[in-house]
Amino acid sequence: MFLTISTTGTPERPATDLGHLLHKHPEKAQTFSTSHGTAHVFYPEASVERCTAALLLEVDPVALVRRGKGKGRGGAPDSALAQYVNDRPYAASSLLSVAMSTVFKSALRGVCAALPERADAPLPLRIVVPALPARGGAELVHKLFGPLGWTSVEARPVALDEQFPEWGDSRYVQLALEGELRLCDALRQLYVLLPVLDDAKHYWVATDEVDKLLRAGEGWLADHPEHKLITSRYLSRRWGLTRQAMDRLELVRLAEADDLDVEDVDNAVDETTDTEERPVPLAEQRRGAILEALRAAGASRVLDLGCGQGQLVQALLKDIRFTEIVGVDVSVRALTIAGRRLKLDRLGERQAARVTLLQGSLTYTDKRLTGYDAAVLSEVIEHLDLPRLPALEFAVFGSARPQTVLVTTPNVEYNVRWETLPAGHVRHGDHRFEWTRGEFSAWAAAVAERNGYEVRFVPVGPDDPEVGPPTQMAVFEKADKTETGKTGKTEKTGKSEKEAKAA
Ligand code: SAH
Repeated sequence: MFLTISTTGTPERPATDLGHLLHKHPEKAQTFSTSHGTAHVFYPEASVERCTAALLLEVDPVALVRRGKGKGRGGAPDSALAQYVNDRPYAASSLLSVAMSTVFKSALRGVCAALPERADAPLPLRIVVPALPARGGAELVHKLFGPLGWTSVEARPVALDEQFPEWGDSRYVQLALEGELRLCDALRQLYVLLPVLDDAKHYWVATDEVDKLLRAGEGWLADHPEHKLITSRYLSRRWGLTRQAMDRLELVRLAEADDLDVEDVDNAVDETTDTEERPVPLAEQRRGAILEALRAAGASRVLDLGCGQGQLVQALLKDIRFTEIVGVDVSVRALTIAGRRLKLDRLGERQAARVTLLQGSLTYTDKRLTGYDAAVLSEVIEHLDLPRLPALEFAVFGSARPQTVLVTTPNVEYNVRWETLPAGHVRHGDHRFEWTRGEFSAWAAAVAERNGYEVRFVPVGPDDPEVGPPTQMAVFEKADKTETGKTGKTEKTGKSEKEAKAA
């Protein structure tokens, strides 16, 4: 069972970075034992220009049978011998998915401490799986991988026997995917779609599989035209689980399609019970609070950092005082949807001149982001792993340094007020953390202190006397702004001016 991942590079961005992203050194061949065999990772080529990582899984078919699993595969004749003579050792299946999740665990999560910005950015990829069992054939392979951002999806049917072409094709295809994707997205797609195409799992599918599916499906599954087939096959057609997964995907979709966050779906459910009117969704309240703060700050040139699908950019465009609006996001997909929402191709010349969408990572300093009046980070910081926050802090407060920075994030204390949110759960699958008011204000105060800003806090949404508001917003103002319009003040000066004012 075999899978290769290749990328290309340049001296500035060497292809061998793949080793960092996969957490496997290109100069070593490594072996891991998995539940059903041995996985090997090695690099058939590793140069600055081209690098290929190979995952080879040797399955022990006898062990597979002894474990009492691996049987009942659709299509295999039900004889005693079929247990031993079957395709499991070479066909890419759930066994390979499980091996991937063991061997490339961090890469699947998109975590790479050494090169975080590389892990966050799309890279040129070519992925080959030489023997992929495809129930539904090449046609289904295209339907499944086609909508996922690959520039080329090739599924070449493998002949039953090359010596006897008249026997026709087997149900295996050779899969080759090419395109620019984040490595973690590519791996997550394979992790889900290999067993879906095989239409079998070598283990009993329990309830935790729904979580696994939603985690691995983050960002691509909800909108996939075949999400129903994928969900049902992934969950081995267990109807109850499939129903559960479909409901949760529906929430994700609502959140994406209708300007709502997942939290707002909960919000709406929560509040319609005691009021007749449709409550204002939290996302809308948040945008209202942000617009108000931007107007109060007198900002006209605004960055929306982590703009997602462009709802705030759209709201900013409606107010002519915002003369220049730049939306930045790491997700090409989000930006594509934002572009569609804003109808960029149909905007008049003057409107179009006001708005720009940029792809970029906020954990990376970026000259394009300097010289603006204000930056908004709306519901973005909680999508970053905590150890990456200092990099974001430096990029925004140290390098871009706008006069005003607005940061919103969920207040985790409020979560108990959402009836539909199970205890201890965060509001969105991709939230790496959610902070209490104390944690957020401690972080914000330290950021302000380190970078020469002053900070105050504004509640967004109903401010509960016990647990506070659902969203917390920090408003940072550059400390030296109020004194003079001049530039070149050091952070120290800013601080002593503040002290002087206080005196
Ligand atoms: N600001 C929007 C979207 C919030 S969702 C709103 O308030 O509705 C978080 C967004 O941050 C996602 O679109 C995600 O792609 C983006 N994001 C996460 N990490 C990022 C990074 N390192 N650089 C740029 N954008 C990032």
